[in-house]
Amino acid sequence: MLKFRSVAMLAGLSLLGSACGGPESAPESEVKPTWEEFKAQAYREPWEGGKIIVNGDEALESEEELAAYFHNVVESQLGKSQDGLAVYYIGGDIKWSATQKLNLTYCISNNFGTNKTKMVNAMASATAAWEATASVNFTYLSQYDASCTASQTGVLFDIRPVSGQSYVARAFFPNSARSGRNVLVDSSAFGSLGAWTLTGVLRHELGHTLGFRHEHTRSTASGCYEDSQWRALTTTYDRSSVMHYPQCNGTQTGDLVLTTLDKQGARALYP
Ligand SMILES: [Zn+2]
Repeated sequence: MLKFRSVAMLAGLSLLGSACGGPESAPESEVKPTWEEFKAQAYREPWEGGKIIVNGDEALESEEELAAYFHNVVESQLGKSQDGLAVYYIGGDIKWSATQKLNLTYCISNNFGTNKTKMVNAMASATAAWEATASVNFTYLSQYDASCTASQTGVLFDIRPVSGQSYVARAFFPNSARSGRNVLVDSSAFGSLGAWTLTGVLRHELGHTLGFRHEHTRSTASGCYEDSQWRALTTTYDRSSVMHYPQCNGTQTGDLVLTTLDKQGARALYP
Protein backbone atom coordinates (compact mmCIF):
# COMPACT_ATOMS: atom_id res chain seq x y z
CA MET A 1 0.00 0.00 0.00
CA LEU A 2 0.99 3.40 0.49
CA LYS A 3 3.21 5.60 -1.25
CA PHE A 4 4.60 8.94 -0.50
CA ARG A 5 3.34 11.21 -3.16
CA SER A 6 2.25 14.76 -3.21
CA VAL A 7 -0.84 14.23 -1.13
CA ALA A 8 -0.08 16.23 1.96
CA MET A 9 -1.40 14.82 5.16
CA LEU A 10 -0.21 13.50 8.46
CA ALA A 11 2.73 15.83 8.70
CA GLY A 12 3.39 15.76 5.02
CA LEU A 13 3.35 12.01 4.65
CA SER A 14 0.74 9.97 2.96
CA LEU A 15 0.47 6.48 1.91
CA LEU A 16 -0.25 6.20 -1.64
CA GLY A 17 -1.93 9.04 -3.30
CA SER A 18 -2.23 7.29 -6.57
CA ALA A 19 -4.63 4.67 -5.30
CA CYS A 20 -7.01 7.58 -5.26
CA GLY A 21 -6.82 8.61 -8.85
CA GLY A 22 -3.24 8.05 -9.88
CA PRO A 23 -2.20 6.18 -12.97
CA GLU A 24 -2.35 2.72 -11.44
CA SER A 25 -5.65 3.12 -9.70
CA ALA A 26 -9.09 2.35 -11.01
CA PRO A 27 -10.41 5.22 -13.02
CA GLU A 28 -13.45 7.07 -11.82
CA SER A 29 -16.65 6.45 -13.66
CA GLU A 30 -16.44 9.61 -15.67
CA VAL A 31 -12.97 8.73 -16.87
CA LYS A 32 -13.09 5.90 -19.35
CA PRO A 33 -9.68 5.38 -20.92
CA THR A 34 -9.30 3.03 -23.83
CA TRP A 35 -7.58 -0.29 -23.23
CA GLU A 36 -4.50 0.98 -25.02
CA GLU A 37 -4.38 4.08 -22.86
CA PHE A 38 -5.00 2.08 -19.73
CA LYS A 39 -2.32 -0.46 -20.62
CA ALA A 40 0.20 2.24 -21.49
CA GLN A 41 -0.13 3.98 -18.16
CA ALA A 42 0.01 0.85 -16.01
CA TYR A 43 3.02 0.66 -13.74
CA ARG A 44 5.27 -2.33 -14.36
CA GLU A 45 7.91 -3.48 -11.94
CA PRO A 46 11.35 -3.56 -13.58
CA TRP A 47 12.04 -7.22 -12.72
CA GLU A 48 10.66 -10.75 -12.96
CA GLY A 49 8.80 -10.17 -16.14
CA GLY A 50 7.34 -6.88 -15.00
CA LYS A 51 4.36 -7.52 -12.75
CA ILE A 52 1.75 -4.84 -13.11
CA ILE A 53 0.71 -2.86 -10.03
CA VAL A 54 -2.88 -1.71 -9.63
CA ASN A 55 -4.74 0.01 -6.80
CA GLY A 56 -1.49 1.20 -5.28
CA ASP A 57 -0.06 -2.08 -4.08
CA GLU A 58 -1.69 -5.05 -5.73
CA ALA A 59 0.32 -7.06 -8.24
CA LEU A 60 -1.10 -8.59 -11.40
CA GLU A 61 0.99 -11.21 -13.15
CA SER A 62 0.10 -10.76 -16.77
CA GLU A 63 -1.45 -8.53 -19.36
CA GLU A 64 -4.35 -10.98 -19.43
CA GLU A 65 -5.01 -10.23 -15.77
CA LEU A 66 -4.71 -6.54 -16.47
CA ALA A 67 -7.22 -6.89 -19.29
CA ALA A 68 -9.64 -8.65 -16.98
CA TYR A 69 -9.11 -5.94 -14.41
CA PHE A 70 -9.67 -3.22 -16.99
CA HIS A 71 -12.82 -4.91 -18.23
CA ASN A 72 -14.12 -5.18 -14.71
CA VAL A 73 -13.35 -1.59 -13.82
CA VAL A 74 -14.80 -0.11 -16.96
CA GLU A 75 -17.81 -2.36 -17.07
CA SER A 76 -18.69 -2.15 -13.42
CA GLN A 77 -21.14 0.46 -12.31
CA LEU A 78 -20.19 2.57 -9.34
CA GLY A 79 -22.80 2.23 -6.68
CA LYS A 80 -22.12 -1.05 -4.95
CA SER A 81 -21.90 0.85 -1.73
CA GLN A 82 -23.83 -1.31 0.69
CA ASP A 83 -22.22 -2.30 3.53
CA GLY A 84 -15.91 -3.87 7.86
CA LEU A 85 -14.01 -6.11 5.58
CA ALA A 86 -14.50 -7.25 2.00
CA VAL A 87 -13.05 -10.36 0.46
CA TYR A 88 -11.78 -10.59 -3.13
CA TYR A 89 -14.60 -12.27 -5.01
CA ILE A 90 -14.62 -13.67 -8.54
CA GLY A 91 -17.60 -15.97 -8.69
CA GLY A 92 -16.44 -17.19 -5.27
CA ASP A 93 -14.28 -16.03 -2.40
CA ILE A 94 -10.55 -15.79 -3.13
CA LYS A 95 -9.20 -17.31 0.07
CA TRP A 96 -6.97 -20.08 1.40
CA SER A 97 -8.27 -23.61 1.88
CA ALA A 98 -9.01 -25.00 5.34
CA THR A 99 -5.65 -26.75 5.43
CA GLN A 100 -3.54 -24.10 3.71
CA LYS A 101 -4.79 -21.30 5.98
CA LEU A 102 -3.04 -22.97 8.91
CA ASN A 103 0.29 -23.26 7.12
CA LEU A 104 1.04 -19.90 5.50
CA THR A 105 4.81 -20.18 5.28
CA TYR A 106 7.19 -17.39 4.34
CA CYS A 107 10.86 -16.47 4.22
CA ILE A 108 12.49 -13.07 4.69
CA SER A 109 15.35 -12.35 2.32
CA ASN A 110 18.81 -11.84 3.76
CA ASN A 111 19.04 -8.97 1.29
CA PHE A 112 17.28 -6.79 3.87
CA GLY A 113 20.71 -6.55 5.46
CA THR A 114 20.73 -4.29 8.47
CA ASN A 115 16.95 -3.95 8.23
CA LYS A 116 16.34 -7.68 8.44
CA THR A 117 15.87 -7.92 12.19
CA LYS A 118 13.37 -5.09 11.96
CA MET A 119 11.51 -7.04 9.25
CA VAL A 120 11.52 -10.28 11.22
CA ASN A 121 10.11 -8.55 14.29
CA ALA A 122 7.53 -6.55 12.35
CA MET A 123 6.32 -9.67 10.56
CA ALA A 124 6.03 -11.51 13.88
CA SER A 125 3.80 -8.73 15.22
CA ALA A 126 1.76 -8.30 12.05
CA THR A 127 1.06 -12.01 11.62
CA ALA A 128 0.14 -12.28 15.30
CA ALA A 129 -2.55 -9.64 14.85
CA TRP A 130 -4.34 -11.72 12.21
CA GLU A 131 -3.68 -15.03 13.97
CA ALA A 132 -5.20 -13.67 17.16
CA THR A 133 -8.51 -12.97 15.48
CA ALA A 134 -8.96 -15.46 12.65
CA SER A 135 -8.21 -19.12 12.11
CA VAL A 136 -5.02 -18.59 10.15
CA ASN A 137 -1.42 -19.40 10.96
CA PHE A 138 1.69 -17.89 9.44
CA THR A 139 4.99 -19.74 9.81
CA TYR A 140 8.40 -18.14 9.32
CA LEU A 141 10.87 -20.56 7.72
CA SER A 142 14.21 -18.81 8.18
CA GLN A 143 16.11 -21.69 6.59
CA TYR A 144 15.04 -20.28 3.22
CA ASP A 145 16.17 -16.71 3.88
CA ALA A 146 19.41 -17.16 1.96
CA SER A 147 17.47 -18.01 -1.21
CA CYS A 148 14.19 -16.24 -0.52
CA THR A 149 13.15 -15.62 -4.11
CA ALA A 150 10.00 -15.78 -6.23
CA SER A 151 10.96 -19.30 -7.23
CA GLN A 152 11.61 -20.65 -3.73
CA THR A 153 9.16 -23.55 -3.46
CA GLY A 154 9.96 -24.27 0.17
CA VAL A 155 7.63 -21.46 1.23
CA LEU A 156 4.19 -20.22 0.25
CA PHE A 157 5.47 -16.67 -0.26
CA ASP A 158 8.68 -14.67 -0.12
CA ILE A 159 9.39 -11.27 1.41
CA ARG A 160 12.07 -9.22 -0.32
CA PRO A 161 13.44 -5.66 -0.29
CA VAL A 162 13.11 -3.33 -3.28
CA SER A 163 13.89 0.33 -3.72
CA GLY A 164 12.69 3.28 -5.74
CA GLN A 165 9.15 1.95 -6.05
CA SER A 166 5.92 3.93 -6.03
CA TYR A 167 4.68 1.90 -3.09
CA VAL A 168 5.95 1.39 0.44
CA ALA A 169 5.05 -2.27 0.16
CA ARG A 170 2.94 -4.48 -2.05
CA ALA A 171 1.46 -7.91 -1.68
CA PHE A 172 -0.68 -10.50 -3.50
CA PHE A 173 -3.96 -12.39 -3.24
CA PRO A 174 -4.49 -16.10 -2.53
CA ASN A 175 -5.14 -16.85 -6.20
CA SER A 176 -1.65 -15.77 -7.27
CA ALA A 177 0.80 -18.32 -8.63
CA ARG A 178 3.96 -18.98 -6.59
CA SER A 179 5.99 -16.53 -8.68
CA GLY A 180 3.56 -13.74 -7.83
CA ARG A 181 3.28 -14.53 -4.14
CA ASN A 182 5.71 -11.95 -2.82
CA VAL A 183 5.54 -9.17 -0.28
CA LEU A 184 7.94 -6.55 -1.59
CA VAL A 185 9.02 -3.88 0.87
CA ASP A 186 10.48 -0.65 -0.46
CA SER A 187 13.44 0.96 1.27
CA SER A 188 11.15 3.89 2.13
CA ALA A 189 9.40 1.59 4.62
CA PHE A 190 12.43 1.89 6.87
CA GLY A 191 12.32 5.66 6.94
CA SER A 192 9.70 7.87 8.54
CA LEU A 193 6.16 6.61 7.89
CA GLY A 194 4.36 9.36 9.76
CA ALA A 195 1.65 7.85 11.92
CA TRP A 196 2.36 4.40 10.64
CA THR A 197 4.78 1.74 11.71
CA LEU A 198 6.36 -0.95 9.56
CA THR A 199 4.21 -3.43 11.48
CA GLY A 200 1.09 -1.47 10.57
CA VAL A 201 2.02 -1.47 6.90
CA LEU A 202 2.55 -5.24 7.07
CA ARG A 203 -0.78 -5.76 8.82
CA HIS A 204 -2.38 -4.14 5.77
CA GLU A 205 -0.32 -6.14 3.27
CA LEU A 206 -1.03 -9.40 5.08
CA GLY A 207 -4.71 -8.56 4.80
CA HIS A 208 -4.32 -8.75 1.03
CA THR A 209 -2.46 -12.06 1.31
CA LEU A 210 -5.50 -13.42 3.16
CA GLY A 211 -7.84 -12.24 0.41
CA PHE A 212 -9.07 -8.91 1.74
CA ARG A 213 -9.67 -6.02 -0.63
CA HIS A 214 -9.29 -2.34 0.11
CA GLU A 215 -12.19 -1.35 2.33
CA HIS A 216 -12.54 1.97 0.49
CA THR A 217 -13.72 0.15 -2.63
CA ARG A 218 -16.96 -0.46 -0.76
CA SER A 219 -17.85 3.21 -0.98
CA THR A 220 -18.04 5.50 -3.95
CA ALA A 221 -17.89 8.36 -1.46
CA SER A 222 -14.36 7.34 -0.58
CA GLY A 223 -13.26 8.64 -3.94
CA CYS A 224 -11.16 5.49 -4.24
CA TYR A 225 -13.60 2.94 -5.61
CA GLU A 226 -11.67 0.24 -7.44
CA ASP A 227 -14.03 -2.37 -8.87
CA SER A 228 -16.86 -4.70 -7.93
CA GLN A 229 -14.87 -7.88 -7.39
CA TRP A 230 -15.53 -8.18 -3.70
CA ARG A 231 -18.05 -9.48 -1.20
CA ALA A 232 -18.83 -7.71 2.05
CA LEU A 233 -18.00 -9.75 5.15
CA THR A 234 -19.65 -7.36 7.57
CA THR A 235 -22.78 -5.32 7.08
CA THR A 236 -21.09 -2.09 8.05
CA TYR A 237 -18.60 -0.21 5.90
CA ASP A 238 -15.59 0.60 8.09
CA ARG A 239 -13.73 3.82 7.34
CA SER A 240 -11.17 2.95 10.02
CA SER A 241 -10.38 -0.50 8.63
CA VAL A 242 -6.76 -1.63 8.38
CA MET A 243 -7.61 -2.14 4.71
CA HIS A 244 -8.81 1.46 4.20
CA TYR A 245 -6.42 4.12 2.93
CA PRO A 246 -6.78 7.10 5.32
CA GLN A 247 -6.58 9.56 2.43
CA CYS A 248 -9.61 7.95 0.81
CA ASN A 249 -12.00 9.66 3.21
CA GLY A 250 -10.86 7.30 5.94
CA THR A 251 -11.08 7.95 9.66
CA GLN A 252 -7.97 6.18 10.94
CA THR A 253 -5.41 8.84 11.82
CA GLY A 254 -3.02 6.63 13.75
CA ASP A 255 -1.25 3.42 12.81
CA LEU A 256 -2.90 0.78 10.64
CA VAL A 257 -4.55 -1.61 13.08
CA LEU A 258 -7.30 -4.22 12.97
CA THR A 259 -10.60 -2.70 14.05
CA THR A 260 -13.45 -4.55 15.71
CA LEU A 261 -15.14 -4.83 12.32
CA ASP A 262 -11.91 -6.08 10.70
CA LYS A 263 -11.80 -8.83 13.30
CA GLN A 264 -15.44 -9.72 12.69
CA GLY A 265 -14.81 -9.88 8.96
CA ALA A 266 -11.65 -11.95 9.30
CA ARG A 267 -13.45 -14.43 11.52
CA ALA A 268 -16.32 -14.61 9.07
CA LEU A 269 -13.95 -15.67 6.27
CA TYR A 270 -11.70 -17.86 8.42
CA PRO A 271 -13.89 -19.10 11.29
ZN1 LIG B 1 -3.41 -2.31 -0.12
